[in-house]
Amino acid sequence: MEKDLGKEIMEMREYYRKGNTKHVTWRRAQLKGLLSFLAEKEVEIFTVLNLDLGKNYVEAFRDEVGLLKKSLNLALKDLRTWMASKEAKLPSIALLSYAELVPEPLGLILVISSWNFPMGLSLEPLIGAIAAGNAVVIKPSELAPASSSLLANALPNYLDTQAIKVIEGGPAVGQQLLHHKWDKIFFTGSTKVGRIIMSEAAKNLTPVTLELGGKCPAILDSLSWSWDKEVAINRIIGAKYGSCAGQACISIDYLLVEKPFSSTVMELMKALIKKMYGDNPRESHSISRIINKHHFLRLKDLLTDQKVKDCIVYGGSMDEDSLFIEPTILVDPPLESAMMTEEIFGPLLPIITLDKIEDSIDFINSRPKPLALYAFTKNKVLKERLVSETSSGSVVFNDAIIQFAADTLPFGGIGESGIGKYHGTFSFDTFTHYKAVARRSLLTDFWYRFPPWNNYKLEL
Ligand code: NAD
Repeated sequence: MEKDLGKEIMEMREYYRKGNTKHVTWRRAQLKGLLSFLAEKEVEIFTVLNLDLGKNYVEAFRDEVGLLKKSLNLALKDLRTWMASKEAKLPSIALLSYAELVPEPLGLILVISSWNFPMGLSLEPLIGAIAAGNAVVIKPSELAPASSSLLANALPNYLDTQAIKVIEGGPAVGQQLLHHKWDKIFFTGSTKVGRIIMSEAAKNLTPVTLELGGKCPAILDSLSWSWDKEVAINRIIGAKYGSCAGQACISIDYLLVEKPFSSTVMELMKALIKKMYGDNPRESHSISRIINKHHFLRLKDLLTDQKVKDCIVYGGSMDEDSLFIEPTILVDPPLESAMMTEEIFGPLLPIITLDKIEDSIDFINSRPKPLALYAFTKNKVLKERLVSETSSGSVVFNDAIIQFAADTLPFGGIGESGIGKYHGTFSFDTFTHYKAVARRSLLTDFWYRFPPWNNYKLEL
C-alpha cells in the first residue's frame, strides 16, 4: 500500500507540474463539480451525517452543506479577482519600473481533517486549495466512516481524479502520508496531533496550517432586561448543545458569570434547554450524539470524578448504547479537575462564578490562548478591554459560533489553538504563494547607484 501511495503522489505531482490545475477553466470546473456533488448527493450527505453523528439535517445544512455552497458561490464569483496580480510600487531608486504580486499555487496539498463536521472540514479547505490552482489529497477522519466513505466514493465522479484524491484511513495512514513531501499541510484536529504534524512537516520545511482546539470561554455579564438575558442564554445553549452536541472547536467550553447572577442564569438555562430539547432530551432528534464509545467514556470520566459530580445542577444522564449525553450544567467544578483543564468537546457546561466580571480577563489570560472568546455584555469598557487585553483566534460579542459562517473574517487560532487562517479570500491566500515580480526599463539609472564613490569618503 505504501508503495502505491508513493506512486499516486508522484503521479499527482507530475500532473501538477504540467500545469493542468493552474488554468482558470480547470479551477472553475472543479468548483462547479463540488457544487454538483452537494446538490446531487444532498440526501446522502444528510444520511451519512446522521449515521456518523446523529446530526439533524437542519443542523447539517446550517453548519456544513449550506456553508459549503456559500463558499463555492463566493469562490466562483471572485475567482478572477483573487487570481489577478496585485500591483505594487518600487522605491524611486528603481526608476521606470513596475512591480506586482503574482499569485502562484503552492503545488501538492495534504488536507487532514476531523470528524465533527466531516463534510465541511474536508471540503472547505479543498475549495480554497482548488481555487488557488493546487492538486490536493484529502484524508478525512476515520471516526466518521460513513462520511469518509461517501467522500471517497462519490467525489471522484465530480472532480478531476488526477489532481484531487481522497485517501481514507486513520492515524497510521496519516503517518504514511506525512512521510511524503508536500507543498503545504492543512490540518484540522487536536493540539496533540497538531504537534506531530508540525514536526513531520519541519523535515521538509513544509508550511502548515493548523486548525486546532482548546477551551473557548464565554463571559455572561449581568444583563439588565429579561429579554436580553433570554436572547443571550438561547444563543449560549445553541452554541453549547446545538452544534454537534458541543463537539465543535468553537463551541462554548465554559461560562464565566458573576456570583450573584449565577442562580438567575441557571434557572433561565434550565427552562430554555427544556424548550429546545423537551422534557426527555433522549428522545429528541435535535441534538447530535457522541461520535463513539471512546469519546462517550471520556466525557463520562470527566463527570464521574466525585468532586465534579457534586457540582452537577442540571442533566448528567447518559446512555452508552445510543451514545447520548443529556445537556448538562455544572457550577464551579474544581479548576484543577480535567473538566477545567482539558477541552470538553461534549454537552457539558461548567459555569464558573467570579466576584467581578472583570476578573474574567485574568482568568482567560492565565490559560492557553483560545480559538474563540465570547462575551455577552453591553459594557463598552469591558468589550474594549477584552479586545485589547486578551488574545484569541476570534472575539464575538453577544453571540457565538456565527464567526465561522463569515467569509469576510479569517478563521483560525493563535498559540495552542492553531496557526494560520482560512475562509473566503483567506482560504485562497492560505494555498497561494504571492510571488514578487519586479520589472524595470533598461533606459536609465541614477548615477549614485554604482561606484566609484571616491568623493564621498567618511572623514573620521
Ligand atoms: P485528532 O487530532 O485525533 O485527529 C484529526 C485527524 O488527524 C484525523 O483525520 C486523524 O485520523 C488524523 N491523525 C491522528 N493521529 C495522527 C497522526 N499521528 N499522524 C497523522 N494523522 C493523524 O482530532 P479529532 O479527534 O479528529 O478532532 C478533535 C479535535 O479537533 C478537537 O481538539 C477540536 O477542537 C479540534 N478541531 C478543530 C477545528 C478547527 O477548525 N479549529 C475543527 C474541528 C475540530
